[in-house]
Amino acid sequence: MPLELIVISLMRTSKWINVLMLNSPDEDKARQQTRRIDVSANGIRWIERDFEQFTPLGKFFEINTNPEAGITVDKETNNATALKLSLVHINDAALDQQTVDVSIEDLHLLLNESMACGLHCSNCYNELVPVRRYDCIRPMPVYTMEPIKYFCPSDKKPTSLAEGELLYALNYIVISPKILGKRVIQCGQHIHCGRCLQLVGESLGEKVATQLYVDTLWVAPRGQSEVQLPEGRLEQLFGQLTASQLMLHLLQDAVPISEEKTRLFLKTVRPDGQLHYMLLLVDTSQLHLLRSKLSLIEDLNVSSSLKYTDDDTNEDSDSSSESSSDCTSDSDLDAVETSDDDEGEPKAKRQRRAETKPVHEVKVRGYRGCRINYHIFSSDEELAANHEMIEKWRREGTPMLRISYVMMMDLLRELNVNELLVATLERIAPDEKEGHISYIIYEPVEDM
Ligand SMILES: [Zn+2]
Repeated sequence: MPLELIVISLMRTSKWINVLMLNSPDEDKARQQTRRIDVSANGIRWIERDFEQFTPLGKFFEINTNPEAGITVDKETNNATALKLSLVHINDAALDQQTVDVSIEDLHLLLNESMACGLHCSNCYNELVPVRRYDCIRPMPVYTMEPIKYFCPSDKKPTSLAEGELLYALNYIVISPKILGKRVIQCGQHIHCGRCLQLVGESLGEKVATQLYVDTLWVAPRGQSEVQLPEGRLEQLFGQLTASQLMLHLLQDAVPISEEKTRLFLKTVRPDGQLHYMLLLVDTSQLHLLRSKLSLIEDLNVSSSLKYTDDDTNEDSDSSSESSSDCTSDSDLDAVETSDDDEGEPKAKRQRRAETKPVHEVKVRGYRGCRINYHIFSSDEELAANHEMIEKWRREGTPMLRISYVMMMDLLRELNVNELLVATLERIAPDEKEGHISYIIYEPVEDM
């Protein structure tokens, strides 16, 4: 069956690529046996009995086709082939040029200066901040997971908020403590709902500022305000972030622990009160991904889309591609070839010389991303069993960031989906103790 998807990953600090090629499972043994994969310096060919799919990669890098450089095929199943190829040269400029740039987008709060609302506990609807307007609503000057460092810097005077000011960031708002209602209980720095005792925020200095967690707040609009706000969770007044945007925001504040790794310690509370922790160790060297469209087979069904590329008519490049298959067929690349031993290769060659197969060019698009090793603890048993690791991260000074349950689930969903891809692509055997390995791929919003 034809190639359906090709994914290539590259850590910009390494000189090798991981390649994953997926196809539909093939019941037809004869057709399966005539399939070959040829790796040449400028690309990868997927060769079936009556057509070829060529993924040109020459503009991005030169693949090392010397069999001793080690073309590794570790995993080949009926529908997936994973290769590890070493590179002679990487064209950084071309790679960057062909890559989608996803920049961090500002958060948008749909609350404006003309709207009046009260803030209640999302759990028991107890009023925490009486109804009022805010005459100055703006994002935090720096999105930081430790707003106390902004409001109470150790080397400067504290920055106090006026009563009408409201600052916002990822999953928290900051207001003046003077407007906090009476129905809250402060316990040390922690601020709890006075009725159900839900933790709703923390003090950033007496008379300075109060941080409230967005996911614990319910907005009760005042009926007479000019623009009517919908009643509901305050979260709804923030546009939903994609997993890419969430990760970009989180990484802005992540704590590097070495030149190669950075940490994120995320916390959330499920609506029923269950605490979740997610510990992420992020590789800081840039991950690059080249990916074809998701279903290449659709293009092949349209016969007019099959075309003869220059490589087929050009004698030089054809022979170079053949010679690369010659030099690798005796070595590691043997494993890639599904043709029958000695007979397959000459037969395939004769066919290629006798008739020109249509070649479909597979275009790939570049994405940036990050490679992550992560743990998720979502039950009391898991939290207790991993207490030591959680404490170690705390002791080592990794700040804990509270995100909303929806954000954590979105992030987890993305990590879970990519984890399957990464396991095949990087040929990783799962190891619960060492954590899960996955990627977050930065995709533009229009692709989602
Ligand atoms: Zn409450």
